[in-house]
Amino acid sequence: MTLTVSGAVLDGATVGLRCADGAIEAIGPEVAPQAGDETIDAAGMPLVPALVNGHAHAAMTLFRGYGGDLPLMRWLAERIWPVEAKLEDEDVYWGTRLACAEMIRTGTSRFWDMYWRPEATARAVEDAGLRAHIGGPLFDADGRTEETKARVLGELEALAERGPAIEPSLAPHSIYMASEGLLRWAGETAAERGLAFHIHLSETEQEVSDCLAAHGERPATYLDRLGVLGERTVLAHGVWLDEAELETIAARGATVVANPVANMKLAVGGVMPYPAARRARVAVGLGTDGAGSNDSLDLLADLKLFALSQRHAAGDPTVVPSAEALEIATGARAPLLAGGAGRLEPGAPADFLLLRGDGPELGLGELASDLVYAASGSVVDTTVVAGRTLMRGGAVEGVEEIVARAAERADRLGIR
Ligand SMILES: [Zn+2]
Repeated sequence: MTLTVSGAVLDGATVGLRCADGAIEAIGPEVAPQAGDETIDAAGMPLVPALVNGHAHAAMTLFRGYGGDLPLMRWLAERIWPVEAKLEDEDVYWGTRLACAEMIRTGTSRFWDMYWRPEATARAVEDAGLRAHIGGPLFDADGRTEETKARVLGELEALAERGPAIEPSLAPHSIYMASEGLLRWAGETAAERGLAFHIHLSETEQEVSDCLAAHGERPATYLDRLGVLGERTVLAHGVWLDEAELETIAARGATVVANPVANMKLAVGGVMPYPAARRARVAVGLGTDGAGSNDSLDLLADLKLFALSQRHAAGDPTVVPSAEALEIATGARAPLLAGGAGRLEPGAPADFLLLRGDGPELGLGELASDLVYAASGSVVDTTVVAGRTLMRGGAVEGVEEIVARAAERADRLGIR
């Protein structure tokens, strides 16, 4: 199926965009539909790349609003872990479908996920039409190192059988939940198979002081010594990284994903040091984290909080220009995260959005600034992923059934 969009607005010019085989075939003022094309008349609608959510636990939509006022450890111990012990594939499937419906509605085409039962996540992502990098969490703080490795190897095999929208990854939870040996094994397994290595790092100040006490070095330095910092490494959070760590991360080509809303909700007491990361030329992306600790998956809403918290923390309103902030949300400043998307040019994945340009939020002013500071995901009219139209007119087809089925699963788990 070939899709052609006509009349869209890109950088002030009216353009057409033709997709074939999931990629952008042509884009420009002269591009027009050909006989037999599926067409979208986008007259006057701004065209932008789709968004990339660099860190999520999609199925945790089931836990949205469940104990969200508790401190982190009580929330985990009293609410989340007891319920996670009862999870079945269908819980993860419908929780992820709910997350995907919200991501499609708010303009996200691709996300990086770490959660239990990753095959169920993959099935939901494929059924929804999105793309995801998926890994089951690796940890052995309970001493079950060999069981964890065996489980994850099985999950990797199963994920490798899925279609092109799914990329398996190694996802050690963190340096405090995974032993040195398990982290090394995950790094080696990722390197052997050419897969990404996705981990929470330097989220809390406690994590840094514990790492210094246990290993005599800071978290990123520790990971570098283990040989797991590289071009396929994604570090979620990075709130407490110092300048030397950022230099190392940049030198190894690793990516840092800021999760400002989750950080503020859990009150970690800081923000990812973006000005220093930018000086060091670190690849930076944006994530929501799980809906249990955010509680939204609307990346444009989080982008505003990212930009505001950076300006506020720096005492400087120039630290992250709007166009640059938008590039962080589309993955254009973190090539690994976006997998070649994040730019609208022939050969790039056909992942893009058409926006309500005549709505109150985007009616006036500079588009990038409006998208960062005035908009939320509600300005997205059309979401196209791999050349397939997943949403047109701001409503995701079938969302009523998805919400109802997710609610049934939440009832089964005793959450509601
Ligand atoms: Zn997380």
